[in-house]
Amino acid sequence: MFFIWKKLRMELGEIRCFQHCDRKQNILCFIVPIICPLCGQDLTQSRLRIPPYIIESPFTEADITQCSLVIKPTIGHFLYDFSNNSNLHIGLTDSSGNVYEFDERGVTVGDKTWTHCLSIKILDEHEQLENKWDHSLEQFANEKLWKKECYDENSQNCFDFVLHFLQCFELDRQYSCLVDKSVFCEKMILPATRRAGKYITLYKQIEESQVVIQNAGQ
Ligand SMILES: [Zn+2]
Repeated sequence: MFFIWKKLRMELGEIRCFQHCDRKQNILCFIVPIICPLCGQDLTQSRLRIPPYIIESPFTEADITQCSLVIKPTIGHFLYDFSNNSNLHIGLTDSSGNVYEFDERGVTVGDKTWTHCLSIKILDEHEQLENKWDHSLEQFANEKLWKKECYDENSQNCFDFVLHFLQCFELDRQYSCLVDKSVFCEKMILPATRRAGKYITLYKQIEESQVVIQNAGQ
């Protein structure tokens, strides 16, 4: 047991969940405490109902995504700077994880700052389709519409870039939310940022109080 504790201490920053004495209460933490916050028993000396497992983070590196939509705050880091009012920046990855994004600079490809983003996989793995995606994305990014002179904060921004591409790739049959920008945001982007928001809230609560108790099933 001591070995497990030692190992867990080395992997900071990931949210862990376990149960000790109450099957209705999950205990969430970065580091499993020595003493159970519910019953006060020494956890190194007693059996856990559910041993610690990691709550999967919603964040990923764009590098390891393929043919996906990627999302990050326009400024800063999801964990430290994101709130419901934050502006979001979105882009698309090709099959090798290079990000195509559109902003006041025009189209940028392969920026390396997408290390902590949300991703939504758009295409199922299918080599032929992925090749077509890569080729289309490259061509699309070179269109005049996406020169930096055409950028407009409201009417011609990163959302238009992504949405137009997905429409051009005829994915609107598969994704009915591609009809317009507001439906696209509401049905595709918001559910992902809401999930992220929940994780961030929990993360901050644990940072503040080390341990958070939640009803199991919550
Ligand atoms: Zn306990």
